[in-house]
Amino acid sequence: MPLNRLPFDRRSFLGSLSGIAAAPAAAMPASPQPTPPQSGSLEGDLLAAINKIPLVNTHEHIIPEEERVSLNVDFFTLAGHYAINDVISAGLAGDELRLVRDESASARARWAAFEPHWNNARFTGYGQALRIAIEDIYGAAEISGQTIDGINDRIRAANKPGLYEDVLRKRSNIAYSVLDDYWNAAPVKPDPRFFVYARKFDRFVAPQSAANIRELEKLTDVSIASLRGLKQAMERSFEQSLEAGMVNVKSTLAYSREIHYSEVSESRAELEVQMLLKDGRHVPEGFRNRVERPYRAMEDHMFHHLIQLADAHKIPVQIHTGLHAGNGNFIENSKPTHLTNLFFLYPNVKFDLFHISYPYQGELSVLAKTFPNVYVDFCWAHIISGSLSRRAMHEMLETVPANKIFGYGGDYRYPELSYAHAKMARRNVARVMAEKVEEGFCTDEEALRIAEMILHGNPDAMFGWRRG
Ligand SMILES: [Zn+2]
Repeated sequence: MPLNRLPFDRRSFLGSLSGIAAAPAAAMPASPQPTPPQSGSLEGDLLAAINKIPLVNTHEHIIPEEERVSLNVDFFTLAGHYAINDVISAGLAGDELRLVRDESASARARWAAFEPHWNNARFTGYGQALRIAIEDIYGAAEISGQTIDGINDRIRAANKPGLYEDVLRKRSNIAYSVLDDYWNAAPVKPDPRFFVYARKFDRFVAPQSAANIRELEKLTDVSIASLRGLKQAMERSFEQSLEAGMVNVKSTLAYSREIHYSEVSESRAELEVQMLLKDGRHVPEGFRNRVERPYRAMEDHMFHHLIQLADAHKIPVQIHTGLHAGNGNFIENSKPTHLTNLFFLYPNVKFDLFHISYPYQGELSVLAKTFPNVYVDFCWAHIISGSLSRRAMHEMLETVPANKIFGYGGDYRYPELSYAHAKMARRNVARVMAEKVEEGFCTDEEALRIAEMILHGNPDAMFGWRRG
C-alpha cells in the first residue's frame, strides 16, 4: 500500500489494534495493489521493460465476446470465477450463498450477504485479482455497499463489442491466448484475433456409462461397439479439432481420478468397454467416483491412445496438475510424478504441466529438470499465491533450463480478471529478475532476456506454430 493511501499514521493505527486482534479486517479502504517499485530502481526499470513484452498466454477459458456482451454481467459475475470459492471457503453458504447468486435480487442485498465473508477472503490471490480488476478497469479502489451500484453501472456500460480488444490487447498487452473451451463438446473455431485452440478429449478417455458412449457416437458419427470403435471416435474428434485450428491437446482428468496411466493391454481394455456398453459395473456417485473407477483399465489404455495421437501429429499436450478449482477434491490425484511413465514412453511428446503442480512444485521442478520433454507452466499460479510463484520461479530458474518455463496463463472466464492476473505476473517476474540480478545470478540484460523468454518466446515456440 503506498504510504499516501494510509488514512492515518501507521504506528498509531497499529497501536490501536491491540486488544481487537480477533476482529475481522472490515471497512478498511485499501488498495489491493502491491507497492510499485520506484522508477529508476532496477526492479522499476525491469518492470517498465517487461510491461512492453506482448504476453503469450498459455491458458484461458474466456467465453466468446459475442456471448459475453449478451450476458447481464456485474460485480458478482466477475466474483463468480475463483474469488467466490475462497468466499465459500471463508463461510458463505446456504441462503446467503443463494442470495449472492440470485440475479433478480438487488445488488445491495447480495452485497450484504457477501461482505462479511469477503472481508475474510479478499486478501487471497483470487481476492486480490478481483480487486485489481475492479480498481484498474472500473475505477473503484473500494468495493462496499456504497460503491457496489456504481461499479455495476460501469461494468454494464463497458459490456459491449470492443471490450476484448480494449482489455486483452490495449490494457493487458496479450499477443494471444491458448483457449480451452471445455464447454464445447464439438470443436468451435475461436476468434483468431485473440486465441489459439486447445482441445480436450477426456470424454473419449473416460466415458462412465452407455449413455456417454451414445453421446460420443452422436458427436463423431462413428459407431462404438468395441474398443476399436471408441478409438476411431476419438480419432475423428481429433481430426475435427485439427480442422478447427487445434494447436495442442489438453487434459483435466486430475479433477476426476488419479493421473497415473498404466500400460494396459488391448484385451483388458476391450473387456471393460464391453462391460461399459452394458452398464455392467456400478459407478459410484459424487466424490467417491474420483477414487473408485470401475473402468480404470479402459481409461488408462485410452489415455495412452490419446498421447500416441498427439505424438503422431507432433502436437504438445497440456495436463492439469496440482490444485483443483472449486471447493474440495483429492489433491493427491494430481501429483505430476504420477505421469512419469509417459515421459519415458513418449520422448517426442512435449508435456506442458500446469499450475506449477502446486503444492507439488518441487516434484515438477525435478521432472522438468531431468526430462527434456517436460515443461513448467505458471498458468493460474500468480493468483494462487504471489510469494509462492516468486519462490518457485527463483528455484526453477536455478534448476530448470530457461527455455522450458512458461511464465503466465490467465486461466479465467472473464478478460478483466486475466488483465489483473497479467499485471500480477509481470510484477512477480520483474521482482524475481531484479533479485536475481542483485544476487549476481545474471546481468540485467540477461534478466530481461529471460523475462522475454518465459513470457513470450518459450510459449510462442510451443503454441504459435499455426499462426501466420
Ligand atoms: Zn483452466
